Amino acid sequence: MRKLPKKRFLEVAGRILRNKMAKEAIYPFYCSFKLTRRCNFTCSFCNCWHVKNRWTDMPTEDVKAVLDNLARSSVIVCSFEGGDPLVRDDIEELLKYQYQKPWYLLFTTSERDMQARYPMPEYGKYIDFLHISIDEGHKNLDMYDELEEYTKWGSIVTVQIVVTKNDIGALETKIRRCQDAGVKAVVMCAVHLKNTKDHLPDLWSMSKVGLELKRKYPGVIISPDSYFNRITWDHGCDTSSIIVDADGFLWYPCRVLEEKTINLIDSDLMTYLESPDGHERRLRMAACDIQCAWYQYYATQAFVNPREILSAWMPYYRDLLNGGKQPMAVAPAFAPRSIGDLAHAQILQESAMKGLDFSGPPAMELPMIQSPPHP
Ligand code: SF4
Ligand code: SF4
Repeated sequence: MRKLPKKRFLEVAGRILRNKMAKEAIYPFYCSFKLTRRCNFTCSFCNCWHVKNRWTDMPTEDVKAVLDNLARSSVIVCSFEGGDPLVRDDIEELLKYQYQKPWYLLFTTSERDMQARYPMPEYGKYIDFLHISIDEGHKNLDMYDELEEYTKWGSIVTVQIVVTKNDIGALETKIRRCQDAGVKAVVMCAVHLKNTKDHLPDLWSMSKVGLELKRKYPGVIISPDSYFNRITWDHGCDTSSIIVDADGFLWYPCRVLEEKTINLIDSDLMTYLESPDGHERRLRMAACDIQCAWYQYYATQAFVNPREILSAWMPYYRDLLNGGKQPMAVAPAFAPRSIGDLAHAQILQESAMKGLDFSGPPAMELPMIQSPPHP
């Protein structure tokens, strides 16, 4: 897990404040960057593979130009996605290049036999969060047998579970398996995209089951509570996250509406976001009533909203404290209800890892309350 300078967090905090004052998500904090449309899967809820045989990837230098652009912006979590980013021949070079940037890297893949086909321990040095898609839609449920293997590559591992209308009942088994393997799970709805089958689950059922499983398996599901709440709202999405397509174009305000705007190879992202066109598209998003439930547009706000920040980051706090290694045996699994609870949990965690520090001044004697004499 890389260390970001404090200055970077202050910059991002400033952008959060400016969003709050403007009452709109001008500045995004999370970016999905589709590095390719090529993929070895053909999931029925996805349309990116429809063009895979005709698709030519962006040249390495253009990808680097987009990364430079994103690094000048408010984005503090960059996500390499696809298609499948592992199929790019230059992926190691790109992983090393992005490692100099002021963000955490999330990397999503669903490739089989990763350990045999790719140098994953080497890649893992540059990946903070490794997300592996495993579900019925990907037809790769057998990969649940390999979860322990994935944890050996140095990244924080999360299983990405896309839930269709037929799979809500099967969710608990997967979450239990993630808990047993000591990995996390991100749960999201299968969104209905153009030219795909409609697999969107019933949003009220999804909301109820998601929140119940979060309570039952604390610390496993990283999808914030507000994701499961917002998917039932008329207008629960916002632009605190963005998606850049595999040709460098920005989908804005969202991927589902399929409207492309500037190309980040040569147009500055921050200038565009502050432009009248950016503002007008955000207004359109605020009025949209599709209720698509796309995870990042409904969930990212929780990770930067001061009122939700604590609960949203809670599943990660053990990892962030301990540089990505989870001492599962000593980490309390309950979610703290306040800053005081969190501080207490941190002290327990640190003393469990480092031992108690007896070098300080002797403990102060506290006054005792004498019980009244018995009548
Ligand atoms: S693995 Fe991902 S990118 Fe590939 S077809 Fe399935 S959903 Fe689409
Ligand atoms: S609800 Fe509408 S604007 Fe919001 S992410 Fe979905 S399609 Fe886009």
